[in-house]
Amino acid sequence: MDNISEKLNHYFGHRKFKSELQEQAVRAIARGVHDVYVSMPTGSGKSLCFQLPAMLQDNKVAIVFSPLLALIKDQIDHLTKLKISAESINSKMSSKDRERVLNDLRSMKPNTRFLYVTPEQAATGTFKSLIEHLVKYKKISYVVVDEAHCVSEWGHDFRPDYLKLGVLREQYKSIPWVALTATASAEVANDILSNLKLLQPVAKYKTPSFRKNLFYDVIYQNCIEDEIDHLLEFLKKCLGEDGNVKPKDKNAAIVYCRTRDQTEDIANMLTKKGLKSFAYHGGMKSSDRISVQEQWSRGEYACVCATISFGMGVDKASVRAVAHWGIAQNVAAYYQESGRAGRDGKPAFCRIYYCLRERNAVDFLLKTELGRAKTPEQKKRCQNAYKSFEIMVKYCEDVNRVFGRCRHKMFAEYFGEEAPACRGRCDACADERGVRRALQQHQRRAMT
Ligand code: ADP
Ligand code: MG
Ligand code: ZN
Repeated sequence: MDNISEKLNHYFGHRKFKSELQEQAVRAIARGVHDVYVSMPTGSGKSLCFQLPAMLQDNKVAIVFSPLLALIKDQIDHLTKLKISAESINSKMSSKDRERVLNDLRSMKPNTRFLYVTPEQAATGTFKSLIEHLVKYKKISYVVVDEAHCVSEWGHDFRPDYLKLGVLREQYKSIPWVALTATASAEVANDILSNLKLLQPVAKYKTPSFRKNLFYDVIYQNCIEDEIDHLLEFLKKCLGEDGNVKPKDKNAAIVYCRTRDQTEDIANMLTKKGLKSFAYHGGMKSSDRISVQEQWSRGEYACVCATISFGMGVDKASVRAVAHWGIAQNVAAYYQESGRAGRDGKPAFCRIYYCLRERNAVDFLLKTELGRAKTPEQKKRCQNAYKSFEIMVKYCEDVNRVFGRCRHKMFAEYFGEEAPACRGRCDACADERGVRRALQQHQRRAMT
């Protein structure tokens, strides 16, 4: 066992790394040669990537930027439990406490291993002179930016104060920086690298988006006889047998709909046709919502027809099918929602039942929002949302021209990755001519 693995066990009590990627990121940060960018999904152990390497450098402190005091508190509590000295400087603390933290950091051999601050702090006089001091005496191991997508206007939680961090990075070029995020799109990644002014070449560690057990396709509603029958057959096929699960097999399906009415209509129709389904949406009583979700999670029925409010915190491994009724809001959302399928690694199916009426409805909503936007930031945000939606439309309507056919490749491009070896795991690769024909038929019918 080498020093790093030994420290992993000694300080954090973990016998091995959570993933190869986590180990690689830890080792790169420990080397401290390059700036490091880490993109891994929530829960994959990003904190450890910067917490472990800091334990290899005595009497140095890692500065960690984090967007919220609540997150900072969680992390400090966690480290304190592990008997690792972590502190914060913030507006909420007493001046006595602040003095205690500052005195330690200004001492010859600081005990503090992690100093957590919000980006707002970075602009204060106290913080600036502290950094000046720490840099002068070479007391900083590295600077960490957690939840780094906050620096991007493409991200959903853009925080203007994060932009100030870029200035700091340019000021002190000798210290390595580490940026971490769970948001994976290429746009956000580019913003992180450029707005934080990370020094090239940046070492990047990113979970690939390709999920090889998921099969993706698109069905055009105007090209099939009966949409509900078609959906029913699809769900039954994915769920196995007649779709009505027995307690022993817990196969499940989700049908995502845009509106509350749709969730109820489709659930009713599927149930009438023999596949017991329930609706789930934000307009329901919360006790009803909870019971629908719990029964589904326990496998008492297989199919839930839901708005996108369904899924947060749902952790069911055996989802065999995710169907979208109409279209998804954008590629990132579609990737996430459809990605709830096949968490157990077994084959699962992701399908969009595309229709123009739904596309136009979303188009209209996004344009209305844009029209109502007042500040330049709101406008920019709405414009970005619209652009993201347009890529989703292309995913459905423009497979051939825009994305060189493969749907997995289209995701990879969106996330700034190499095209994966799809090998027939999407309709366009499995049946290129069929897809082309369906698309042409759809377009012909759409014009009439
Ligand atoms: P993220 O920031 O990526 O969402 P966290 O850093 O909060 O994830 O970690 C998620 C969970 O994984 C935590 O409970 C953490 O203790 C645990 N974890 C991290 N690394 C390991 C590991 N090598 N072995 C086991 N558990 C780990
Ligand atoms: Mg985290
Ligand atoms: Zn493909």
